[in-house]
Amino acid sequence: MPMQSPIDITRDALVPLEPGPAPHFHYPAAPVPAAVRFEAKDGDPTPDGVEVVPEIVVVPAEGDARVEWGDALYRLQSFHWHTPSEHWLGGSPLPLELHLVHRRSGDGAFLVVGVLYRIGGHNAGIAPAFGLIGGFDPATLAPDRPQEASATISLAGLLPEGQTTYRYPGSLTTAPFSEGVSWVVFTELPEASAEQVAAHDRLVSAPTPLCGGRPNPPGNARRVQDPAGRQIATDLPLPSGPGRGSSS
Ligand SMILES: [Zn+2]
Repeated sequence: MPMQSPIDITRDALVPLEPGPAPHFHYPAAPVPAAVRFEAKDGDPTPDGVEVVPEIVVVPAEGDARVEWGDALYRLQSFHWHTPSEHWLGGSPLPLELHLVHRRSGDGAFLVVGVLYRIGGHNAGIAPAFGLIGGFDPATLAPDRPQEASATISLAGLLPEGQTTYRYPGSLTTAPFSEGVSWVVFTELPEASAEQVAAHDRLVSAPTPLCGGRPNPPGNARRVQDPAGRQIATDLPLPSGPGRGSSS
């Protein structure tokens, strides 16, 4: 069975985490310089070619942001956002999702960490990147010609305070959709303002004439994929009930 992402995180797919090492995030709190690019990625095939997926991609300067997980070390490579969210919770999308893309030392295996946002107050963590949105121009965005800017960003400021997560095996959500990706999605939903979400959505939903058609606007989120029986492990307390956790 294919094991593609994103998926709808539904209650009936949740199972308790097996005992074992947890991911430990070592992200610097002090702001670091970062390249911020507005670029077009390739999405799913369409009758006319492929869907165009505009993204703001942030590449921090070579640094020490990493996740240690048991014996494995994953280094942060880049991050980007989707409006609406790609992962759904219980049948609905959230307004915004952050993807922090890490690769494992040695074999390059992917660990992608998701943060889902709810509408609320201004989010200072994403503000340095989102403040650049007005300088990007979808009308002149072209393949292989990202629009480039720079910012200083606190990487630790991107993570929620709570450390509980959902974890499941999946894939990249843009081409080449490689599987074997470890997904970790935080259960806590940080706030972002309606203005921040709207600014991102306007940017990634706008026509990009030089990149081809946009058959699936608005937004830059891939559709949820068939969970194909996958379980989603979580350290959230789960209600016990018939069929789960109530018998030995
Ligand atoms: Zn993504």
